[in-house]
Amino acid sequence: MGFCSPVCKTLRRGKYFVLLVLSLSVLAWITTFSGETVKSVSTDSASTQIIAKGDGLRDKFNSWTAAPNRVNPTPQKVKCPQESPLLQGARKLSFESSLKLKDVETENKAVTEGVYEPSDCIARQSVAILIPHRSRERHLLYFLHHLHPFLQRQQLHYAIYVIQQSGDATFNRAKLLNVGYLEALKDYSWECFIFHDVDLIPENDHNLYVCDQHPKHLVVGRNATGYKLHYKGYFGGVTAMTKDQFFQVNGFSNTYWGWGGEDDDLRIRVELQKMKIIRPAAAVARYTMVFHKRDSGNEINKDRMRLLGRTPKVWRKDGLNSCSYKTLSVDRLPLYVNITVDIGKP
Ligand code: UDP
Ligand code: MN
Repeated sequence: MGFCSPVCKTLRRGKYFVLLVLSLSVLAWITTFSGETVKSVSTDSASTQIIAKGDGLRDKFNSWTAAPNRVNPTPQKVKCPQESPLLQGARKLSFESSLKLKDVETENKAVTEGVYEPSDCIARQSVAILIPHRSRERHLLYFLHHLHPFLQRQQLHYAIYVIQQSGDATFNRAKLLNVGYLEALKDYSWECFIFHDVDLIPENDHNLYVCDQHPKHLVVGRNATGYKLHYKGYFGGVTAMTKDQFFQVNGFSNTYWGWGGEDDDLRIRVELQKMKIIRPAAAVARYTMVFHKRDSGNEINKDRMRLLGRTPKVWRKDGLNSCSYKTLSVDRLPLYVNITVDIGKP
């Protein structure tokens, strides 16, 4: 060990000090760098915030991720309000004999292949409207003319499906509606289904085409019956059921050919499941039925009372799970999806 003057001692201490400072800064640099790598892995907005607090490299990363938003802010869509501000209440309906399909298409440019969704908010429900149909073209035209704007005022995400029975065997409304449900679910997981006669036009847009906790019957009154409920327990014309409610009752029976009974059968299925039937207030659940005579090929079903008696025994085997049919075509027309189907004969 040699001699060291006071100057020499100070220099030696300084050397250690510089060494210490150097190693500390190396350590600090390593920590910062590894932290950066971890944070950059996640790309959500939270990580962007963390990075925003950091140094030069972080600021650079931040400018890459945030710049597009600053330059071109994409407004986040929010849920549509509980009550649509577009509702108009009771309206006088018109049925112009001069109305043409082209006019209705022009009025509804926002509808694509029968589907619509609000552009400025996220709809509260996705609803499939199912219409059983054969040879009621004029009624269908009035229906499209009134229903498209009506549903849009309710700010719904919806699609209209028309299920056409092919051939001239006896009409079967219920089976067509089962087909509509099964086919529509191939397009989209609709949460709500509205089973809708083609000739019933709602008069008041506060009659909401959405589903509830319980199956809903929307036609309390119609012009032809003095706007009074047809009879206690009536569940026909227009009904709304969720995807799950309809599945739970195994849909409609497939065995009602001709006019009548199928809607009462559905009510029995609903009651067997201990579900209730709800209705909107009579003041809003009002419909105009476009006048018509009984169609040929849809004569009264004289067997309907006997069929209704066996519903509690057969509903599990007769319904969605036994609905056999042959789809002949699916045409995505501008204002509705047209499904033509061979459902057989009685
Ligand atoms: N329907 C149809 N073509 C027919 C028979 C019935 O399109 O030949 C459809 C149509 O949607 C109609 C529904 O089945 O609204 C119910 O039939 P209808 O109007 O005769 O029943 P009601 O007037 O007695 O309620
Ligand atoms: Mn009718």
